[in-house]
Amino acid sequence: MNVLVINCGSSSLKFQLIRSETEDVLAKGVCERIGIEGSRIVYQPEGAEKISKEIPMNDHTKAVELVLESLTDPENGVIESLAQIHAIGHRVVHGGEDFESSVLIDDDVIRAIEACSELAPLHNPANLIGINVCRKLMPGVPMAAVFDTAFHQTMPKKAFLYGLPYEAYTKDRIRRYGFHGTSHSYVSRRIAEVLGKKPEDLKTIVCHLGNGSSVCAVDRGRSVDTSMGFTPLAGVLMGTRCGDIDPAILEYYEKKEGMDIHQVMDVLNKQSGVAGLSGLSSDFRDLSDAAAAGDERSQTALDTFCYQVAKYIGSYVAAMNGVDVIVFTAGIGENNAVVRKGVFKYLGYLGVKLDEEANTRRGEEIRLSTADSTTPVYVIPTNEELMIARETVALAEK
Ligand code: ADP
Repeated sequence: MNVLVINCGSSSLKFQLIRSETEDVLAKGVCERIGIEGSRIVYQPEGAEKISKEIPMNDHTKAVELVLESLTDPENGVIESLAQIHAIGHRVVHGGEDFESSVLIDDDVIRAIEACSELAPLHNPANLIGINVCRKLMPGVPMAAVFDTAFHQTMPKKAFLYGLPYEAYTKDRIRRYGFHGTSHSYVSRRIAEVLGKKPEDLKTIVCHLGNGSSVCAVDRGRSVDTSMGFTPLAGVLMGTRCGDIDPAILEYYEKKEGMDIHQVMDVLNKQSGVAGLSGLSSDFRDLSDAAAAGDERSQTALDTFCYQVAKYIGSYVAAMNGVDVIVFTAGIGENNAVVRKGVFKYLGYLGVKLDEEANTRRGEEIRLSTADSTTPVYVIPTNEELMIARETVALAEK
């Protein structure tokens, strides 16, 4: 079965066509700057060079049309006709409490995703546009919604409730939801395979460290706690997001700097994190290079990040009363030796020692801890698209 995986943002659309039997990526790409001047599509068939074309895309309908044209293009396409797309899997950011697993999309599902839009106003409306365009252009093709929040719906109340009036939860739906669920789910299953164990036999801590970062406690295959919260702003500090801060800062900062709440939120989302601390960059490559060259603020940003990740790991060891394996994933977790080493510094109490040679490797599935470490630490490259394709196939075949 060929599955088209779509991740539709407000001005971008990422896609992959995956053959489910072999799990090969037949083609992938991205449409950028949709609805903005200078829009372009980057398309890459399996085993070939990227093809980048600047083409006006006024809306997402045009973007999806271009994706379908690229996939079926006589010269660079990978399928002969649209009939060879057998199912479509959509990434949806927020499923609220309505979805604890992926679902086939119908009118009721669309209404429920719409109802979650107020919880994720930047993401769900864009995800819905992608769904609606695909329904229009490819009617009759089974489509699945795969939610970033679904994996975390197994969290117990004590982990997802905030210390607010209970009605904030019951009436206003304010609680921890958690994100990156598709990644945490994929990585926690994959590490079980690597260790030759069942997910049900493992206490795993997954550190998804990318532009957005979150740490997750996976107890016997189920998410029991995670660092992102009501929104992806919470948890460890990130590229530009502040992570956990004292909520009273908002009012104080607003008054002190003469900003309104929207401006404060903009600072917390876009001008904080390691970018804010370093004053240099949100990209950890830049920070590692600058720190190595003696830039103190970049070093402080890196230290703060590693310290906060390590504190979350510690708190999840407590939450699960132990840990069997720790995994790093996503752009930083898979590639950044400085950050990995920085987090390892705090893991001595778990009997963890860093294999310096392994830590030089990038983007590989590898054990980072030495053979004599009590608790193994691994890198498992994440693959959210593959996970979405698998979920879609399982639903479409039902
Ligand atoms: P997103 O959350 O947008 O998917 P990523 O998971 O790609 O982001 O993470 C982005 C971060 O990962 C950046 O800080 C970057 O420095 C780092 N990163 C990504 N790829 C590499 C690489 N090949 N080598 C070193 N660092 C990388």
